[in-house]
Amino acid sequence: PRTQVPLRCWAEIDLAALERNLRRIRASLPSFMRYVAVVKADAYGHGLHQVAARLMHAGADLFAVATLSEAAALRELGPGWPILLLSPLVPEEDDYIPRHDVAVTVSSADEVDRFAAAAERAGRKISVHLKIDTGMGRAGVWHETAATVYQKIRDAAGLTLAGIYTHYSSSDDDPAFTAEQRQRFRQALASFDGLDPTSLLIHADNSAGLETIERAGPFNAVRIGLLQFGILPRTGSLLADVHAEPVFSFRTRVGLVKDLPAGTAISYGQTHRLERPSRIAVLTAGYGDGINRLLSNRGAVLIGGRRCPILGRVTMDQTIVDVTHLDTVKSGDEVTLIGHQQGAEISVTEFSTWAETIPWETLCSVTKRVPRLYR
Ligand code: PLP
Repeated sequence: PRTQVPLRCWAEIDLAALERNLRRIRASLPSFMRYVAVVKADAYGHGLHQVAARLMHAGADLFAVATLSEAAALRELGPGWPILLLSPLVPEEDDYIPRHDVAVTVSSADEVDRFAAAAERAGRKISVHLKIDTGMGRAGVWHETAATVYQKIRDAAGLTLAGIYTHYSSSDDDPAFTAEQRQRFRQALASFDGLDPTSLLIHADNSAGLETIERAGPFNAVRIGLLQFGILPRTGSLLADVHAEPVFSFRTRVGLVKDLPAGTAISYGQTHRLERPSRIAVLTAGYGDGINRLLSNRGAVLIGGRRCPILGRVTMDQTIVDVTHLDTVKSGDEVTLIGHQQGAEISVTEFSTWAETIPWETLCSVTKRVPRLYR
């Protein structure tokens, strides 16, 4: 229904590009590698339902989410789809695990007891992936003591070990430490009694990890978020060879055009003063839509394929840009905040640099007010 009124700020999600990206990433990997599609945080702001449905169609093997409500939403969509919950759960959530039939991450001996008890109460088995902390310092059992938790899972009647994984802290900028984490992971696996890695999903590599991925066992799955949305984890990434295409565009419109004399201050706090008589455009989006306030006096937008600098502070619902250099601009014109327009582009990465953040956060910061349009 929201799309029945004219659009003033929206995101366009190119599901065909998403599907091509998954296929290209897969084609760049050995065929035995399983594909875990990371779709947490509403599929990085792209919309969980539409993204997951398309990725399933394109051949994803497993979906990774962060929260129980994300898992429940996915379960409604795909009754048989395999789902893995990555983040720790609070005890009150335990009984929902078998109810939604999701695999959960185990990071401690205490969780083995909790999940085994939940399985017993439900009268059905719970699938778990053992997470090993090889240097991320977040979830996971510390690698040197992981063998005891591994054994405890094997001994728990209600639990089925479905996978073992780790997560890199610095795969986008520290290949030496990533190699160290891989080595710790391999050593931990070697210390597990009776382990048959081929019967489990063994995964470590996120998007940036693919740059240095080991194309042989024990690793047999990857866990991909950012790259499937067509964004490289760092500039100069070797993954440019995958030719992943941007999936997300962020657009708004010109609400008002007006001419102002030199010396006029623009927006809250008078942080920009016009040096010459200028034409400004007031856009119909602000930080209430996801234009980070750090873009004040810093970022730019595309109108008619030309860059127009942001003047003064970004406000909640309106952003002001300089259009003095444009021949024609009028109320209603389309404005690109992120994406392509007439041969020009502002990438998620460039937008994120203006906002002093990372593409992951930019995508998660586009607010609920912004309808997502799928094509
Ligand atoms: N695995 C885990 C545990 C994560 O938290 C994330 C993302 O934050 C990913 C995989 C996917 O990482 P990326 O988006 O860099 O591919």
